[in-house]
Amino acid sequence: MKLLRYGNTNTYYIEGRAGGLLVDTDYAGTLPQFFKAIKAAGIGLREIACLLVTHYHPDHSGLAGELQRLGVTLLLVDVQRAHVHFPDAIFAKDRRPAFRPVDESAAAVISCAGSRAFLRGLGINGEILRTPSHSPDSVSLLLDDGTCLVGDLEPQEYLGGYAHNDALEHDWEQILQRRPKRILYGHVNAREL
Ligand SMILES: [Zn+2]
Repeated sequence: MKLLRYGNTNTYYIEGRAGGLLVDTDYAGTLPQFFKAIKAAGIGLREIACLLVTHYHPDHSGLAGELQRLGVTLLLVDVQRAHVHFPDAIFAKDRRPAFRPVDESAAAVISCAGSRAFLRGLGINGEILRTPSHSPDSVSLLLDDGTCLVGDLEPQEYLGGYAHNDALEHDWEQILQRRPKRILYGHVNAREL
């Protein structure tokens, strides 16, 4: 597992025996910084087989379309399908020339139930869970080594700050049932459990 920082979002790279999986990207327009970051980390573009976006907010999916163009397969969870163009209007206003919308017709579409089998094909042991408290399309990736990538899920310790947040409680229940050892967030530092 490698952490790539080239802006405000954590991009994670998981080396699979049969191909690497990138999780999240930064904002549109950060492709040159992305290339510098993978080079510094010793990752070749051709080694990156797939990209999983934890949710289609612009600061997590900004490079998804660009990376598809460069030959990276977008791993799209079926519950995310209706949300992939959410950032398009934001980037249109922003006039970022480097932005390229996602091409969902070229994506590998899987269900959460089918995620373990797909990941096994890359040589990665784990599963994808739906954790929709942050946004309806949010997913988390739980690896069998106890690492859990949760995107923008609010940290568990914030739960006490809400009188009731059933959606957030439910997401954490599902994650904690699987006894993760460390939580990797989209922006803040990792937490050891
Ligand atoms: Zn978000």
